[in-house]
Amino acid sequence: MSEEPTRKRRRNFAMLNREVIKPGYCVSCGGCEAVCPVYAISMEQLVPKLVSGCINCGACIDICLRYKQRVEQPEYPQNEIGEILELYTGRTKLEDIHARSQNGGIVTTLLVTAMKKNEIDGAIVTTHVSDLLGPVPTLALNELEILKAAKSKYTLNPVLTKLPSIKLSHKSKVAVVGLPCHNETLSNIIEKKNLGADFRHKYTIGLFCMSSYEPTAFRDIISQNLGLSIANLTKTDCARGKFFFESPDGVTDIKIKECGGAKAKGCKYCMDFAAEFADISIGNIGVGDDSNIIIVRNKEGKELLELAIKDNLLDVEKIPEEKWPEKLAAAIKLSNSKRKGNESVPPIETK
Ligand SMILES: Cc1cc2nc3c(=O)[nH]c(=O)nc-3n(C[C@H](O)[C@H](O)[C@H](O)COP(=O)(O)OP(=O)(O)OC[C@H]3O[C@@H](n4cnc5c(N)ncnc54)[C@H](O)[C@@H]3O)c2cc1C
Ligand code: SF4
Ligand code: SF4
Ligand code: SF4
Repeated sequence: MSEEPTRKRRRNFAMLNREVIKPGYCVSCGGCEAVCPVYAISMEQLVPKLVSGCINCGACIDICLRYKQRVEQPEYPQNEIGEILELYTGRTKLEDIHARSQNGGIVTTLLVTAMKKNEIDGAIVTTHVSDLLGPVPTLALNELEILKAAKSKYTLNPVLTKLPSIKLSHKSKVAVVGLPCHNETLSNIIEKKNLGADFRHKYTIGLFCMSSYEPTAFRDIISQNLGLSIANLTKTDCARGKFFFESPDGVTDIKIKECGGAKAKGCKYCMDFAAEFADISIGNIGVGDDSNIIIVRNKEGKELLELAIKDNLLDVEKIPEEKWPEKLAAAIKLSNSKRKGNESVPPIETK
């Protein structure tokens, strides 16, 4: 493990810029903007920019996942995808949610159920305004807003910029849905008790993730290669080495390899496929397009899932521990290939 620079350096935005943003390790998670106590950081076109005076408090440095990884140099072994308390496969029984969702509709069903039961009073989810390749994080305050945010958006998404809105709207029991990078920065914010944004939250839901894409470059590749009108997309999907794009005209596809040029730079340094920092991690690899694989990681994740199971809203199977390796084989294979294909962020130079 390398050590933090011993040379007296100010822990400020200039340091974040030098060690994370400029070298291309930033993943646009939005955490730094959220925690800055003087609102000096703003995500501009997905890049954190200093927009007013930095008071050198170090909050952004403390919580940035990439800064922490550069300092701590964690190991990412093959064949490991984090803590598992319980494992399930299956889908929602709620057909209206299933029809609107990406896979088995588990994420949306868990959120809607928790809200109906007053276990959460808000959920940070990701909707879109112009088209599905322009994700817009939002604090959903009712079931309809949660439903509208269903389905995956494959471009960079500053989810954590919405954390301060929890305080502003006087909510205290919020679920945060994010990709592994969002989950990790969020866990740093909790660990450091660095609550510049003074946020509280109840559940972290993680989505499996191989990569995100730069929105402009991704839109260009798709419209140039497939002649698609991006505004008409009703669903985007990523499976079996291809991206699929659904619109009222039908479904078209393109090989993921052909979109390599649009892969977000910061994703090249990502080693977490299975959302290891979440309370509950959800994907679909190995279980088909209309279903989910659900890794319950801790008691909060178990509590959230059980809300829906108790009301008989899910058609899920609990997988006995001896069958975990078999059911997780595809996820582990993908996680291994992500770790092999990507690289760890380099340690911070101390001289
Ligand atoms: C960029 C990306 C890459 C993924 N890669 C894989 C993969 O390689 N293998 C795999 O098994 N699964 C992957 N997933 C997860 C998968 O696409 C589904 O999200 C998951 O199976 C849950 O399905 P669901 O039907 O329960 O989701 P739904 O019920 O449709 O809910 C989806 C939730 O995800 C949120 N969301 C959508 N896009 C984003 C985003 N960009 N950032 C944060 N939150 C978002 C929405 O707000 C919504 O709450 C990926 C998801 C994303 C967004
Ligand atoms: S969080 Fe602190 S160190 Fe970072 S930009 Fe804001 S004031 Fe500066
Ligand atoms: S990775 Fe997240 S916290 Fe770090 S600089 Fe980028 S947006 Fe900020
Ligand atoms: S590959 Fe990693 S860094 Fe990139 S969006 Fe997915 S979780 Fe975030």
